[in-house]
Amino acid sequence: MSTQPTASHFINGAYVEDKAGEEIPVIYPATGEVIAALHAATPAIVDQAVAAAKAAQKEWAGWTGTERGRVLRRAADIMRARNHDLSVLETFDTGKPYQETSVADATSGADALEYFGGLAAAITGEHIQLGDDFVYTRREPLGVCVGIGAWNYPTQIACWKGAPALACGNTMVFKPSETTPLCALKVAEIMIEAGAPAGVYNVIQGYGAVGASLITDPRVDKVSLTGSVPTGKKVYAAAAEGVRHVTMELGGKSPLVIFDDADLENAVSGAILGNFYSSGQVCSNGTRVFVQAGIKEAFLARLTERLKGVKMGDPQDPDVNFGPMVSERQRDIVEGFITKGQEEGARLVTGGNRVDKPGFYLEPTVFADVSDDMTIATDEIFGPVMSVLDFETEEDVLRRANATDFGLAAGVFTADLTRAHRVAAGFEAGTCYINTYNDAPVEAPFGGTKQSGVGRENSKAAIEHYSQIKGVYVRMGDLEAPF
Ligand code: NDP
Repeated sequence: MSTQPTASHFINGAYVEDKAGEEIPVIYPATGEVIAALHAATPAIVDQAVAAAKAAQKEWAGWTGTERGRVLRRAADIMRARNHDLSVLETFDTGKPYQETSVADATSGADALEYFGGLAAAITGEHIQLGDDFVYTRREPLGVCVGIGAWNYPTQIACWKGAPALACGNTMVFKPSETTPLCALKVAEIMIEAGAPAGVYNVIQGYGAVGASLITDPRVDKVSLTGSVPTGKKVYAAAAEGVRHVTMELGGKSPLVIFDDADLENAVSGAILGNFYSSGQVCSNGTRVFVQAGIKEAFLARLTERLKGVKMGDPQDPDVNFGPMVSERQRDIVEGFITKGQEEGARLVTGGNRVDKPGFYLEPTVFADVSDDMTIATDEIFGPVMSVLDFETEEDVLRRANATDFGLAAGVFTADLTRAHRVAAGFEAGTCYINTYNDAPVEAPFGGTKQSGVGRENSKAAIEHYSQIKGVYVRMGDLEAPF
């Protein structure tokens, strides 16, 4: 498969190049080899993309919901039919194993396209009777939406933002992370093939500066970012200048609480899924694993045993289940946290080393005896590093679980039904799990509280964030005035 795209950008239904833009080398994380070279958008490219989105928006919004939905559902079908090729490309872009990308990326993108395609025709206003008079509401699109993506789920993020935006009658300019620029271009191609008019879904490449220039463009009405908290604060502030709508899907340091009465095998599975899937590069990961005293040693023993099932290697090999970090930089950042964990006195149970291979591999790493104030327990690491903390009581663990500025996700494993719901209710987090971890079906809302975000993606809730209500008052009789 060729990993070099036709051109860097996809605007107004066609590939576009402008070699004056800064070069973006695309590196395969499993080998360190350059597999493509793209160019960042110049101001002229940014202008072209926003102009195309602006020009297409009114016509697109004028289609019926059924017509727009049909395009999205066709796009979902095309994505599913091409799942193999799209998954291979996602693996080249991110280094995530094909075993994951073939079931969690284009497939998740297709789910979003299908779901919002299905909802599009049901996006309606309401009628409010006021005696003889009445008010009706129109649910209208926002206009031109900008999507800015992180590098961990490039296909999924391009669809999770694009599908609800387009269903509501908006158009989109999407800027992927420069670390993983390849997959969103395929999403743009598929939208056109599925029948979306030119300009409805555009992709441009670039570093942070390109994203920043999109947010302040006066033709832009909404910004949806998936990224870190520091970037989120900058983007939110820049959007506020123009009083633009925002969705912020930011980072986390989520708690996963395992009580003594939990099913041990399921709890270990949850901790593995919540820490080592995508080599730990998942925003909602439950990286603070609180384990009750009675089950702690059994948990650590079983976890260590299960981690022997990790198979590293060529991520395109379907038997490989653990890939490299997305970049050398990310590998170095994560290694820095591992060193810090050791320096601050946490007990290294397993892992902690680079792997002697080309590419940016790190072993899955587990620390025990972690205390709440250690850096590995307070900071988002975004790599395969699990911190195990001890606890005695429900009250104590809930207080400690919530003692963070983040509020993205939280999970609890217990056999006690009422405790499970009580703890879920007590969590200060937008996305919670009982006896499972990190499921993200499109039917369920996804997003964070506190500094982890604003707004929700997926589910019917996303419609609220890509549309606005207009109220229309209708008087049926004569109108009285004081003079
Ligand atoms: P970053 O915050 O570094 O970047 C996110 C995106 O924003 C990139 O496309 C980046 O471009 C762009 N960007 C950076 N600075 C600006 C700016 N000033 N204005 C506009 N755009 C800008 O995040 P990462 O890509 O490193 O992704 C990891 C982070 O994303 C983690 O914190 C993780 O938790 C979070 N995340 C959140 C998810 C959620 O749904 N809540 C899901 C996945 C990840 P460039 O790369 O060129 O700098």
